[in-house]
Amino acid sequence: MFTHPSGPALYNESVNTPTVWINADLHCHSAVSDGTLQPEALAARAKANGVELWALTDHDEVGGQQRARDAALALGLPYLTGTEISVTFADITVHIVGLGFDADNEALKAGLAATRGGRRERAMEMADGLAKVGIKGTFDGALKYVKNPELISRTHFARHLVESKVCSDTQEVFRKYLVEGKPGFVPHRWATLRNAVTWITQAGGMAVIAHPARYKFTANEEYALFTEFKTLGGEGVEVVTGSHSSADALRYTETALEYGLLASRGSDFHSPAESHMDLGNLPPLPSQLTPVWEALESRVHRPA
Ligand code: AMP
Ligand code: MN
Ligand code: MN
Ligand code: MN
Repeated sequence: MFTHPSGPALYNESVNTPTVWINADLHCHSAVSDGTLQPEALAARAKANGVELWALTDHDEVGGQQRARDAALALGLPYLTGTEISVTFADITVHIVGLGFDADNEALKAGLAATRGGRRERAMEMADGLAKVGIKGTFDGALKYVKNPELISRTHFARHLVESKVCSDTQEVFRKYLVEGKPGFVPHRWATLRNAVTWITQAGGMAVIAHPARYKFTANEEYALFTEFKTLGGEGVEVVTGSHSSADALRYTETALEYGLLASRGSDFHSPAESHMDLGNLPPLPSQLTPVWEALESRVHRPA
């Protein structure tokens, strides 16, 4: 069904033939947010794993974009700018990936900075919650893993709690301590869906709903998310991601077709030690879908 391209074209120009397959990985994290590798090391890993189009999508940050792009292009790897914005929708945290925007756009940068604001205070409250169940010193513990002082995340707490042997892996930390109803969970209000989509699209990019199977929405809430997202100008949904089972991918293939959304693919790679899905190491998108990269052709940074 899929063939690897022999030439430089990203996709087949002829409309009725199946999309030419490329190994695109459009979702991962560096130490600029909650990944463990620097952007340059991620670029090298993506290249080594056979990725043919790459985007670094740090949470609420574009601080790593220039480095990621420079490193990718030096390796001959086409690059799309990326970010993953934290949004609150119907009291649930939803992630919106932005692709192919201008990373110097002032409104986008200001919006992301505002979204990052409050992470430190939230982290202190998380540490207080954990201290109440006898786990002390987690704010300083988490900080040891933080490379970007504006981006303390639950992931950094999870790494500290594994390192200090409270849990054996990060999944266990989340399950026991960091999700809703658990002692280290602090409800937080992130960006609105409208703001996130608008920041991305006004900076010339495409908004994509990240890993939709992860959200615990009712059917009505999910319908509201997808319809409002479309109305606001959102264009894509992740179908194949490190956060989806194959059943999830099939389900959101239907959703993409139903809502007329383009489909994205990304590992959500964070760390060699923690991520079960490595960069570029994902199943292909089902062939009935139109990949996001077909509409992002003009936004791809290409090696000279
Ligand atoms: P935050 O933005 O601080 O709420 O942290 C969210 C991050 O935590 C996500 O981007 C993932 O990297 C990580 N995460 C969320 N849920 C889990 C989980 N169940 N297991 C491992 N990591 C998770
Ligand atoms: Mn993360
Ligand atoms: Mn996410
Ligand atoms: Mn992610």
